Amino acid sequence: MNKYDSELVSGLLNSDGFEMTDDIEKADVILVNTCSVREHAENRALSNISQLQSLKRRKPELILGVLGCMSRHLGDKIFEDNTYVDLVLGPDSYRKLPEFLKNRKRYKNVEYKEYETYTDIFPLRKDGVTAYVAISRGCNEECSYCIVPFTRGKERSRSIESIIDEIEKLLDEGFKEITLLGQNVNSYNYQGTDFPKLLKRVSEIENLKRIRFATSHPMNLSDGLIDVMAERENVCPYLHLPVQSGSNRILEAMKRNYTVEKYIGLVEKSMSKIKDLSLTTDIISGFPGETEDDHRATIELVKKVEFDSAFTFKYSPRDKTEAFGLKDDVSEDVKISRLAEISEIIREVSLKKNREWIGKVTDIMIEGKSRRSDSEVFGRTGGFKKVVLKQNNLSAGTIVPVIIKDATSQTLFGELVG
Ligand code: SF4
Repeated sequence: MNKYDSELVSGLLNSDGFEMTDDIEKADVILVNTCSVREHAENRALSNISQLQSLKRRKPELILGVLGCMSRHLGDKIFEDNTYVDLVLGPDSYRKLPEFLKNRKRYKNVEYKEYETYTDIFPLRKDGVTAYVAISRGCNEECSYCIVPFTRGKERSRSIESIIDEIEKLLDEGFKEITLLGQNVNSYNYQGTDFPKLLKRVSEIENLKRIRFATSHPMNLSDGLIDVMAERENVCPYLHLPVQSGSNRILEAMKRNYTVEKYIGLVEKSMSKIKDLSLTTDIISGFPGETEDDHRATIELVKKVEFDSAFTFKYSPRDKTEAFGLKDDVSEDVKISRLAEISEIIREVSLKKNREWIGKVTDIMIEGKSRRSDSEVFGRTGGFKKVVLKQNNLSAGTIVPVIIKDATSQTLFGELVG
């Protein structure tokens, strides 16, 4: 979502006459877009911002701004403590940018606006074949560890027309794949149109080769959505379904509104209906009160479900959240060792799942040159698995059939078929 917001702000400034530069020394305006989801992300952003201070000293006319969730979370402090920062804007205040750049007075606006969807602004993407399209902003859930409902406010769904219009413009620009974005896409609702209906409508857009979406809350994963994924060929068989914990006790404390049994039921239903479905997840280790038994339950769940991959995190207490009132009683050492154990099992499971692809033929969409070598390109399967090919004459956006010859836990290696 932050990447999309950066593109949104670039689009807003581009229509106001600004151009992007990759050379920081040439920039007249530097905007740092920030995340508050974990303390680590905030500390990194603060360090990046303080490093820009010397640039500002050498070039006093440079405008330095801080955007995003951290502006809403810590905006007052950032503005007061860092006098070299000219501008602090929260996620709902980006329209103020052109006005500020005209007036050039130090300015802060971190208000939450319940109606803002930026529907009329076309984000500026770097050239490519895959693009994000936001379908909603904010979140109505109250997961007890999560700061997003505070930083991004209540959920607002974008109109169907504006989503379709943005995708059609992207196709005109040569994009082939879009990812529909929301904190919880499954709760999308615009004047009675729910997410499965929106997804079906989007899948009917001519020449749209591939559609993905993120993120799905298990609580709202409906039969209707599974059916659309199963029926529509250009909806990729890929589901990111954050489970967070394998213990019902912890899930309840996290206020996730599902049980492990319900989650496994959803996975089984999705797997049985959607061919070659890839499933990924998020896991938080060391939530307050997590015992060794709770941790073992998470390990068991990972082994049972066999996720294709997972994003794993140590619990990070965030003020403004309900869990902040709980004692952060799992020691740092225990958090680290539990996280390492989960990550190792996920690596083993990913390797096993990837090796199951060896000998199979699948379509991949080429995304660009491989990082390893100029004589290789890489692409992705519908299930979002990265495939490296010894070829250098295939352009980005081409969809080709490949046979998988080898696999690591992260990457498949293939050869063109035919
Ligand atoms: S669904 Fe829960 S974890 Fe996801 S953004 Fe909303 S509150 Fe945060």
